[in-house]
Amino acid sequence: MPCFASTAIGAENRLYSPDLPALKAVGAAAAPADTNSARAILSRAGQPLSYGDLASLLKAVLLPSGAGVASIVCECSARLRRKLFGIAVITMAPVEIANTCLSDCLFCGWRRSNQIMKRLAIPDDLAMLQVEYLVGLGIHHIEFVSGDDIKAVRESLPRLIAQTRELFRRRGIDGIISFCTLALTERQYRDLKSAGADAMILWQETYDRCVFKQHIKGGPKASGIDDDWKQVRGGDGCRFRIESQERALRAGLDVALGSMLGLNPDICADFLAAVDHARYLAAHYDITPEHPMIIGMPIWNPITTQATDLRPARAPGMETIFPAIAGLYMLALPRRSVWIFPNCRVSMDQQIEAARVAGVFTSTEVKLGPGGYLPSILKNIRHGNSGTEALWRRAADLVKQAVESEEELARVLDEHEQFVHHYHTHEAYLRAMERAGLRLAARASLPATDD
Ligand code: SF4
Repeated sequence: MPCFASTAIGAENRLYSPDLPALKAVGAAAAPADTNSARAILSRAGQPLSYGDLASLLKAVLLPSGAGVASIVCECSARLRRKLFGIAVITMAPVEIANTCLSDCLFCGWRRSNQIMKRLAIPDDLAMLQVEYLVGLGIHHIEFVSGDDIKAVRESLPRLIAQTRELFRRRGIDGIISFCTLALTERQYRDLKSAGADAMILWQETYDRCVFKQHIKGGPKASGIDDDWKQVRGGDGCRFRIESQERALRAGLDVALGSMLGLNPDICADFLAAVDHARYLAAHYDITPEHPMIIGMPIWNPITTQATDLRPARAPGMETIFPAIAGLYMLALPRRSVWIFPNCRVSMDQQIEAARVAGVFTSTEVKLGPGGYLPSILKNIRHGNSGTEALWRRAADLVKQAVESEEELARVLDEHEQFVHHYHTHEAYLRAMERAGLRLAARASLPATDD
């Protein structure tokens, strides 16, 4: 898959850097497709579409009148998805370690300056209890998540990765362990690989430096860090983040990338930049179906502390066009080694439709705050007629208040989440996926036979 205009091509020691002006120019020059021109473009589906063609389709999908083109994109992508991946969907769930953060991203509920967000860091044993719960459900890809909390990433994360690797070994599970936190140096990625991690997940938010600076106002994300975990004075955090996937790949990890569509008003530029980045990595590194690259689809959702939510009331809505955006990523990167990742930032119906259209990888049973699965664990223990007193005491200590019921504990823990999202049980996803003609795979890797 040829890249469009990466400044890094051919430069031995330089890492990827998008040519934003060129990508913006392609987007600006593209006329929104009508249904006839969309069909003509999609007659070439299966080959990576040109950036001009992708921009024409995306600009049509973004129009209020774009439902016709969106529908054609979805059906074309769904056929391609079926051919490449069959009906399999691989699922993951996050385990949040800490919602403390040194960085200050204006769109995020965990930002350092959000004084009304209650903060929590989960002890190792309670984190592992949740890992066991998720693995017990049949979710064999565990993603550890934290804010830009150096202590949590430096100390807790390697321990939890190693303990999860040991859990997988004991149970004979061929599981995947990923982590989503601040951008790290190559040495730090190597250390996490040595601890037992398989992959890093990191969203760029935006590839546009100016937009990045407008929204990311301070902390490690704004400036990057060095091998000693110190913020780089005057560092270029945007570039440090863009280059993080390559440092991780060089350290032996699989990677995920994506931009938060809607943060940058020029949606087309960030979509094309994410595609360009992915094409560059696929061309320069060993990306295979066994070591895939994941393309995430974060969107700008409200945060859980409404009073400090800085999201503009007129932020672009992505709910209805989410499946078509997933389809466009699939059409841009049509290969078994690239997995499109629809998430629960949209309703379950739209998430599953996006999975049918393009997503071989998704998340289920997601809780986005530390300790979020504890109410379900307590319920399970109670149904098993075992004593729950000790765990209730730990849960009350964790949230620093008395809680009377599993529902109340869930409500309190949900207040610690990073942003508003949609929660459904893994079981509910299983049933809904089946109704959509999809099947959740019982493993974390791509089945050899698709159906
Ligand atoms: S997006 Fe990440 S780095 Fe930024 S404030 Fe939120 S948790 Fe911190």
